Amino acid sequence: MSLIPQAKNKINRKYVSPAAIRVVEKLRAADYEGYIVGGAVRDLILGNKPKDFDVATNATPEEVKGLFRSARIIGRRFQIVHVRDGREIIEVTTYRGPHLSEGSIKSASKQSDKGLLLRDNVYGTLAEDAARRDLTINAMYYNPIDGSVLDQMDGQKDINARLVRVLGDPQTRYREDPVRMLRVVRFAAKLQFDIESETEAAIRVCGPLLAEIPPARLFDEFLKLFMAGHGRPTLLLLLRYQLLDSLCPDAAFLIEKEPRFKTLVTQAMGNTDQRVKDGRHVTPAFLLAALLWPVVQTRADNLVRAGEAAAQAIHSAGQQVIAETCQKMAIPKRFSFPVREIWELQTRLERRQPKRVKDLLADRRFRAAYDLLLLREESSETLNNAGEFWEQQQLEYPDLVGTAPPRTEDKSPRRRRPRRKREG
Ligand code: ATP
Ligand code: MG
Repeated sequence: MSLIPQAKNKINRKYVSPAAIRVVEKLRAADYEGYIVGGAVRDLILGNKPKDFDVATNATPEEVKGLFRSARIIGRRFQIVHVRDGREIIEVTTYRGPHLSEGSIKSASKQSDKGLLLRDNVYGTLAEDAARRDLTINAMYYNPIDGSVLDQMDGQKDINARLVRVLGDPQTRYREDPVRMLRVVRFAAKLQFDIESETEAAIRVCGPLLAEIPPARLFDEFLKLFMAGHGRPTLLLLLRYQLLDSLCPDAAFLIEKEPRFKTLVTQAMGNTDQRVKDGRHVTPAFLLAALLWPVVQTRADNLVRAGEAAAQAIHSAGQQVIAETCQKMAIPKRFSFPVREIWELQTRLERRQPKRVKDLLADRRFRAAYDLLLLREESSETLNNAGEFWEQQQLEYPDLVGTAPPRTEDKSPRRRRPRRKREG
């Protein structure tokens, strides 16, 4: 069945954004089509409160812009319009058509020789738009005026069966956009749905294609994967499908190889999920510090065995690991600096030098570094009881913690020699 009337769907209008309704009303008043689409409809049907609202229409971006004073056209890969209404931003997209269909404007759609979609701005009908979406459960259209849902892709059936299913042929859809594999995993973890068997099997074949995704997009996706409160189950699924390799291959290898690392990283994710649930502050820096710690520690241990001092070893290993990871995911400096500070604090916290106690407590990264230290202890390192020691110190000087101004890159433990240009 493709039309689900209001009486048959379980959407609670209380959860529908009035701003999104206003956008739809205004489009319709101007004789365009307008529906609330995507994740918002899925979440509404599941009885959850959506975190944001997308609207789809047959009006072109220019036409949408003409209707709303606050509209801004953004995006290159997909042109979309942001309509601001108070503090809310409603994302309005024009129906997309099949990118290789005859009659489509040639330059509007572009595909690489491997099937990857480079540009996808061919407009289409609602039915075509539905077929271009990623998952059946993300391809439902809600009409907030009469409360009905258009469900041409059987999304409701998969919601009932609690299944994540890619639309169309999974391998073809992953080739067009490998990030869809990460989205499958993200929604399976978030909704606690199973992954439909062909959707799943194709991931095993297409996983390596994620290497083609630009590092900036992968970092955006990293944040969605791990910062939304379902990081732990997401990580376990990424490991199961060997997709973590595309984000941080060395960490993925060590986490699978050494149980203590798996304990540490899953625990870090679990703690972060709990913080999200409690509405507390979370930072990607801590997550990255924990996720990449197995690599940093392994490299630093090797350097120490080769005769380097512990602090220096962590410093060099950290530098290397950030540089390598940035080839895959573009970690912005505002996160990579604190990540390295968290690592470099580990050796100093382990050492427990009495003269340094107050400085270390005051360090801006003390709390995050202490949290990582505890995770290391819980996952079986002994570390000279440093965790207990620092807990005592915090009780003794509660007002000091994290009060120092931020350190800058220049104050890293090693004085830099001027870099010589490499020849050849
Ligand atoms: P979230 O709860 O994370 O916002 P969402 O489903 O709304 O989930 P968005 O990234 O906001 O996800 O995308 C909005 C909609 O756009 C999706 O529901 C889906 O229909 C479509 N979409 C997003 N990314 C893709 C993609 N890579 N390929 C095809 N369709 C996509
Ligand atoms: Mg969304």
